Amino acid sequence: MKTAAVSHEQDALDARFMARAIELAARGTWRVSPNPRVGAVIARQAESLAEGWHKEHGGPHAEAEALRDARARGLDVRGATLYVTLEPCGAFEGKLTPPCVEAVLGSGPRSPAATGRRRSSWTGSTLSPPRSAP
Ligand SMILES: [Zn+2]
Repeated sequence: MKTAAVSHEQDALDARFMARAIELAARGTWRVSPNPRVGAVIARQAESLAEGWHKEHGGPHAEAEALRDARARGLDVRGATLYVTLEPCGAFEGKLTPPCVEAVLGSGPRSPAATGRRRSSWTGSTLSPPRSAP
């Protein structure tokens, strides 16, 4: 199995942006239950482009907030990297918000988990659209 090389500089950037995403997630404490606290950062190389976090139960998720932040700044996030503390959600019955995975895939930031780099442990699996909607 071939393993993609990841530079120490990229490792440091990944750690920095993921730490920031975790910090943002904490802002949802006591407000998002029963949902998990989630934070997201969209970055290109060393530059943070946009941020978001899940602010309240029933409200937009962290990825949607980060994408909204990027749009508000007039930024094109195609090819940028999305750092998110939880795997983007799919669709399911009774869900209050649109599935984030479709918003992410439709907007262009790539997930570290989707690049084949060793970041899949952050989200538990690779980013891919749901195979079938319920
Ligand atoms: Zn979501």
